[in-house]
Amino acid sequence: MTAATLTIDLDAIAANWRALDAKTACETAAVVKADGYGCGVGRVARRLAHEGARRFFVAVAEEGAALRQELGPGPEINVFSGHMPGDTDMIGDLALTPMINSLDQMLRHLEALPGAPFGIQLDSGMNRLGMEPAEWGALRDLAVQQNLTMVMSHLACADEPDHAMNAQQVRTFRQMTDGLSVPRSLAATGGILLGPDYHFELTRPGVGLYGGRPFAEAQPVAHVQVPVIQIRDVEPDETVGYGNTWVARAPARIATIAAGYADGIIRGMGAQAYVWVGDTPCKVVGRISMDLIGVDVTGVTPDPEAVELLGHHNGVDTLADAAGTIGYEILTSLGARYRRRYHST
Ligand SMILES: *Cc1c(COP(=O)(O)O)cnc(C)c1O
Repeated sequence: MTAATLTIDLDAIAANWRALDAKTACETAAVVKADGYGCGVGRVARRLAHEGARRFFVAVAEEGAALRQELGPGPEINVFSGHMPGDTDMIGDLALTPMINSLDQMLRHLEALPGAPFGIQLDSGMNRLGMEPAEWGALRDLAVQQNLTMVMSHLACADEPDHAMNAQQVRTFRQMTDGLSVPRSLAATGGILLGPDYHFELTRPGVGLYGGRPFAEAQPVAHVQVPVIQIRDVEPDETVGYGNTWVARAPARIATIAAGYADGIIRGMGAQAYVWVGDTPCKVVGRISMDLIGVDVTGVTPDPEAVELLGHHNGVDTLADAAGTIGYEILTSLGARYRRRYHST
């Protein structure tokens, strides 16, 4: 058995959802786009539905269609990209709720599926998705007479609590939505942590569920154990890996482990990253290959049979920092080669 093992802790996801839910007095949805941030949308969403989540969010209708098969009828499945050309059958047949982003999408939806539910996504300053104030002003009266389920917007700087953009977006969102009688949603993980002004009637956490920053209290969710294939002794001045980028300064013992950048272990993190044997950190040495990584296990006894690449010692953000990226990218890059296990008591 050589493939590395990726264990997703469903109990930890459930605990993270409950902990985020406990921070607000409103409803808590769950964002499960990109295959549940790489953790497996079916298992994740079914567990969260069991915990009490009633609304889910995905990025595109195809993800919503797959999620509906997993969840069955009942839970609301909301699609951030709205109602795109070609999506009508999926939205209608599988009861998806598009977050309408523009006048075009609104007309398409009302024409193709009269009476079908929809939400509205508003742009409160991020300039990514959603209607701008003027467009919304022209459509608002029409929208509220239809089957409108929620209005939402998204914060650009919620992971920086002191950023002036946060308060500015809340003000804009309020100006655009005060007086409406439908649920409002502004906060993702970062917005939940900004406090009650940001909660409205519904929050939409994603990364915090999966153990990532900015939810510092999160329990780790993704655990990766990698088998050691071979261990060798190297003498001073010997090199390890492609390009001879690492040179032994002293006698060292080098383990070659069975994972690489094809498994989402970003090549650029090489020089900064550690793996763990029990409680001992072991430095990654040399370039990360597609399927193999060199690790300095000098002094580790007995010879390790496997190392921890992600888990309690190495969180997704620790690896992200080593790679100069964010935990979201580490999670969604975890490849298809792992032996996947789900932990649930
Ligand atoms: C991805 C996303 C979320 C979830 O964000 P996290 O930072 O992962 O909690 C919420 N809302 C929108 C619009 C998103 O794109």
